[in-house]
Amino acid sequence: MGTDYYPRTIIGVRLPWTKLFKKEWYKERVPYTQLPARHKERCDSELHDTATFCPSCGCRLEREHMRIVALTPEVTYDNDEGDIEFHDWDVSRAGEPDDYADIFIGFDFVEGEEHGVLLQIDVTAFDKKKARLKADLEEIGLWDDDSFGLWSFMFISC
Ligand SMILES: [Zn+2]
Repeated sequence: MGTDYYPRTIIGVRLPWTKLFKKEWYKERVPYTQLPARHKERCDSELHDTATFCPSCGCRLEREHMRIVALTPEVTYDNDEGDIEFHDWDVSRAGEPDDYADIFIGFDFVEGEEHGVLLQIDVTAFDKKKARLKADLEEIGLWDDDSFGLWSFMFISC
C-alpha cells in the first residue's frame, strides 16, 4: 500500500466536489457470519432484528457506512471504483473524494505514465467541443466561464 501520483491534463472546468456530490450515511445489519464468535456461540441470533446491540453480549448488530451520492442524475459516481461519469466527457479528480477535492470535466485528457507526458490537442475541434461542454454543464447549472481552461494537476490514489 502506498500513495501514487499521476500527472494529468484536461481542458475544461474545475468544479468543487461539493457542487457535484454529497456524503450520505446509512445503516446496515451486520451479516450473521460477521458477528463475533462469542455471540454466535452463546446468544440467540434471532432475538434482535431491530436492536443496535445484542442485549446479551453487547456486540454491535448494526453498522454505519458512508456512500457518495451525486447531486444530479446526469452525473454518476461508482462507490467501489471511484469513477465519475458525465456524458462522454473526461472526468477526473484531484485528491481523495471528499469535500476539499476538485473535479475536472473536459476533453483531451492524457495520462502521463509512459515515456513522459504526451499531449496532442486537436485545435480544429476545440470550439465545437467547448460549446458542447458548455451546453452539457449549463443544463445542470454548473458551467463557469472563469473556471474554463487548461488544467494540469496530480491525481492522487491511495
Ligand atoms: Zn450476543
